[in-house]
Amino acid sequence: MSTSTVWPSATARSRLRPLESPQLEIVDGFWAERLRLNRERTIPHGFDQLQRSAALGNLRLAAGVHGDYQALGDSAGFTFPFLDSDVYKWLEAVGWELGRAADPGLAAAADDAIAIVAAAQRPDGYLNSYVQVVGGVPHGDLAWGHEFYCIGHLIQAAVAWHRSLGDDRLLAIARRAADRIDDEFGPMGRSGVDGHPGVEMALVELTRVTGDRRYLTLAARMLELRGQGLLGHGRFGAEYWQDHEPVRDAATVAGHAVRQLYLDCGVVDVAVELDDHDLLAAVQRRWSDLVRTRTYLTGGMGSRHRDEGFGDPFELPPDRAYAETCAAIASVMLAWRLLLATGEASYADAIERAMYNGVLAGISQSGTRFFYTNPLQRRTVRASEPLGHGERASWYPCACCPPNLMRLLSSWQQYLATRDDAGVQIHQYVNADMQADISAGTVRLSVSTDYPWQGRVTVHIVQTPDHPWTLSLRVPQWCRSATLTGPKGSGPQVAGAGSVEQFRNWLAGDTVILDLDLPVRVTEPDPRIDAVRGCVAVERGPLVYCIESADVPPGAQLEDLRWDPRRQPAAVPRPDIGRAMVGINVPVVLRDSSDSRAAGSVAGAIPYFAWANRRVEGMRVWIPR
Ligand SMILES: [Zn+2]
Repeated sequence: MSTSTVWPSATARSRLRPLESPQLEIVDGFWAERLRLNRERTIPHGFDQLQRSAALGNLRLAAGVHGDYQALGDSAGFTFPFLDSDVYKWLEAVGWELGRAADPGLAAAADDAIAIVAAAQRPDGYLNSYVQVVGGVPHGDLAWGHEFYCIGHLIQAAVAWHRSLGDDRLLAIARRAADRIDDEFGPMGRSGVDGHPGVEMALVELTRVTGDRRYLTLAARMLELRGQGLLGHGRFGAEYWQDHEPVRDAATVAGHAVRQLYLDCGVVDVAVELDDHDLLAAVQRRWSDLVRTRTYLTGGMGSRHRDEGFGDPFELPPDRAYAETCAAIASVMLAWRLLLATGEASYADAIERAMYNGVLAGISQSGTRFFYTNPLQRRTVRASEPLGHGERASWYPCACCPPNLMRLLSSWQQYLATRDDAGVQIHQYVNADMQADISAGTVRLSVSTDYPWQGRVTVHIVQTPDHPWTLSLRVPQWCRSATLTGPKGSGPQVAGAGSVEQFRNWLAGDTVILDLDLPVRVTEPDPRIDAVRGCVAVERGPLVYCIESADVPPGAQLEDLRWDPRRQPAAVPRPDIGRAMVGINVPVVLRDSSDSRAAGSVAGAIPYFAWANRRVEGMRVWIPR
């Protein structure tokens, strides 16, 4: 076993490999601020909420403390049985954080939680507070019980603690739990899959850290069993849990968005470990259709509230968008796996779009309030709206999103760069120090940038082997003009979307500068998206912008605004919204163009991720022409 490999999806078998954990550090700027907020505010808030919500209390009951199981449910009278997963996701986040730097308060809270989890586990390895306290047969309701799903998150937490800290307390618990599942559902056992995928990718990771291939075999078996109708029709049809078609055959995504995306993470992991090209190609097919036909401009996915599901192709209403924060997070996890497996830059583009927009909008600037759904429009006047649809909440009865944000932000540094035998690939532009061991030797780099506000990225070569190697930098798909200036006498070289590479004998002290042009872009929607036909959106760099009621011309209402195509939008500083923040002044006229009030007016657009941090009224991304 090694403690130097990193999550997520660390494997030597992929086309690109992650850097090793201590070798990447975000030092300053946009992401450093958000990671500090996550560590100092969001994660402590999470522990507080785990106690208030009874997620920890329910595990205490499973450990033998007397009391009643507490959980809310949905409108159909279904009591949520998956609160254990909130605890595990939070523990995963703490594992990554403590690996970066010690924190006695967080460590003490985690010690408490780990002790409770350990005490709750039955001697045979079974662990699920709902079944243990409320009653029922273990694995008696695979469709709705979420038992494997919860154990999947336990495993991910255990992997984080193992890789980040070499602390195997959770790994011991997770292995017993996985062994209990394998005993019952392994190759000679029952045929069963969970209604909520997620355990599959976790089992692959468990094989990666333990070397025990039983878990990989179990994951592959669960994937092959899906699509055989084992889960039945349920409330929403077999598509809801992707049991309508085998994972090898399904041409498009279907059903519940998070379930589909978690499932495909597991499919990629198994495909990479088993060198199964057909299996990998099936996910690539689904992904490219998903990005083309069912993805919001913000990277959000899922447009139907009824089943938290994908809609039909181009069914992407901005006001009724579901776009669950967890779906954006899951899309980052899946795109990362596809990037590692294939090396194709378009997957890093998708990570960028989702992170800066669909994911970051899920959390407030205070770090303690969260969106579950992420609409692209909120009407100024509304009859009603569901919980969390208009304003962020401090927690949810179904609290999947908040701790999911915590664990993604805690591990975000690991998504920035990769290596292969030939060199180092930088995918996301963040102020960071990084080290990579490649076949030529050890490379140390320092990246400095004001991205996403400015487009210049400077890479300093701090240490390099004597042999030549390739530095590869991503040129985002949205960028229409990029130049690369290498060390003395090289460049500038014009670069197109994809990746720009320099292969050379580097010297310590060499500098490479990538300049990405960041004009304001006026984006038209695909005409097949009926709900926004005739509208435009403004973007700059990786950021999608929106207009809030607070920034419309005096006397006007958000719904009165129309885009004025005769004038150009302009980037402007918005220090009132955030440090270094760049807004966009959008030229508008009023709906009734005879109204002189808005002649020559502008409305101020701010990054979508920053919306709903002031008084929450109207908001829209798409502006009518
Ligand atoms: Zn969620």
